[in-house]
Amino acid sequence: PVDQLPPDPSKKTLVILGSGWGAVSLLKKLDTENYNVAVVSPRNFFLFTPLLPSCTTGTIEHRSIMEPLRHILRHKKASVAFYEAECTDIDPVKRTITMRDNSEVKGDIAETSLPFDYLVIGVGAQNTTFGIPGVEENACFLKEIQDAQKIRTRIMDCIETATFKDQSPEERKRLLHMVVVGGGPTGVEFAGELQDFFEEDLRKWVPEIETDFHVSLVEALPNVLPMFSKELISYTEKTFKDEKIDIHTKTMVKKVTDKSIFAEVVKPDGSKEMIEMPYGLLVWATGNMPRNVVRNLMKKIPEQANSRRGLEVNEYLVVKGTEGIWAVGDCSVTKYAPTAQVATQEGAYLARLFNTMAKTQSLEEEVEYLEQLANGATAPEDKKTVTSEIEVKAKALRRTKRLMPFQYTHQGSLAYIGSDRAIADLTFGEGNNMSSSGQMTYLFWRSAYVSMVFSTRNKLLVIMDWLKVKMFGRDVSRE
Ligand code: FAD
Ligand code: NAD
Repeated sequence: PVDQLPPDPSKKTLVILGSGWGAVSLLKKLDTENYNVAVVSPRNFFLFTPLLPSCTTGTIEHRSIMEPLRHILRHKKASVAFYEAECTDIDPVKRTITMRDNSEVKGDIAETSLPFDYLVIGVGAQNTTFGIPGVEENACFLKEIQDAQKIRTRIMDCIETATFKDQSPEERKRLLHMVVVGGGPTGVEFAGELQDFFEEDLRKWVPEIETDFHVSLVEALPNVLPMFSKELISYTEKTFKDEKIDIHTKTMVKKVTDKSIFAEVVKPDGSKEMIEMPYGLLVWATGNMPRNVVRNLMKKIPEQANSRRGLEVNEYLVVKGTEGIWAVGDCSVTKYAPTAQVATQEGAYLARLFNTMAKTQSLEEEVEYLEQLANGATAPEDKKTVTSEIEVKAKALRRTKRLMPFQYTHQGSLAYIGSDRAIADLTFGEGNNMSSSGQMTYLFWRSAYVSMVFSTRNKLLVIMDWLKVKMFGRDVSRE
């Protein structure tokens, strides 16, 4: 690879926003020699989110699931520019983005713009709070690495404060009440990891919390994990019951204060009751909403006026109402769930699309050149050779132009539910499904996730973390 920009004027500039599942999957398969590629993201690493819940308790150390973007970029054939910055504005008419360096260290310039010919938006989504009062100020979330570190510190802080001399029994109970709101996979996996931490380590090292430590999972719908099959939902609910995690379904949180959540419970007779639940740690996992930069872009495009959940895209992942702007992953709205699996396949599809576009352009140029040659040729033999060459190229051109719309292949859903058990809804071939649960599924979960971690270095780090916890338990120091 050669040095960073200035861009090659003969190539189009492709700007990629984000360094998550969608963007990195695109980068991995993109032939970077065909474009001036620039990546803009506030974090200079890829985060393997499926193992993020394990970081909240120290089962996995956070650096084990961070893959430096610089490693990924340095392996590309042609150099790719990377700017650690947040994109704050996208101008689809002037075809520029504005980016701001939001990190602690600033140089002379903290904000600048970047022009693009093609733009891929892969900025993911932010946590939704549905505007419920008190959530933003009091809850922890679980999306980024800092969130997991904050939760890890907070768990130990609650425990050490609960065991402070002369703490009242009620306050002790409150501090040791760990409440998770949202019974989707994020909430369920975190609750499972937390209960493991208590069962396997905390009760051993801090026996005085034994009777009061308690995990509750609060869900507005009648059951948790709506995307899984009925039998796996029942299995999860039963496992949680055995593990002594309380599941409060049909319970919708309406207000949060610094010490309690207030929720409306639908009782079996259909009547509603408001309850108060004191907590020490509150983890909020109620799903996604669009980031500000995406919302602002949507306001500028009339075709996006009716979209609430993110950027509407067509079957080629082009943002509706724009030209040369694509969106992948959680920032876009498709008929598929916002998962890493979908974002990865979308990113890989766009890589094929960009590689094909470049091939098409070069074939078109070749055909044009050969046509000129054919027109200029005087000897019939030469003309015949060039014409047959044109036919070959034109055939190849027709083939490359025939790019199919994006199609998602669902391989199944997997989730860890604690006490060395996982659940899996797997899909084989056309419409063949298989559900499985338990400890064998947990081994499958582990091997599947290790194989999905990109680099050998990170695979090893994850395996070593698991071994370390098996041998010595988790670290209970508060950072
Ligand atoms: P992300 O991976 O979130 O990446 C977004 C990128 O954009 C990041 O690099 C971010 O720094 C960057 N960015 C943010 N704002 C800006 C900006 N203004 N300008 C430029 N860049 C920006 N899915 C599964 O399929 N299986 C799982 O097991 C699974 N487990 C999960 C566990 C947890 C705890 C969480 C939170 C999610 C999990 N998911 C899982 C969902 C999955 O992580 C997301 O669907 C996936 O990350 C979406 O990929 P993305 O590329 O759209 O966004
Ligand atoms: P989610 O949208 O899947 O679930 C959020 C849950 O919160 C819903 O069940 C909703 O009913 C509930 N909720 C909303 N408001 C509430 C309130 N006020 N009170 C109580 N409950 C409330 O969110 P998630 O779990 O963060 O997942 C986000 C995406 O990431 C999903 O697409 C999910 O499939 C994916 N993901 C997948 C995995 C996995 O495959 N293992 C793990 C984590 C996340």
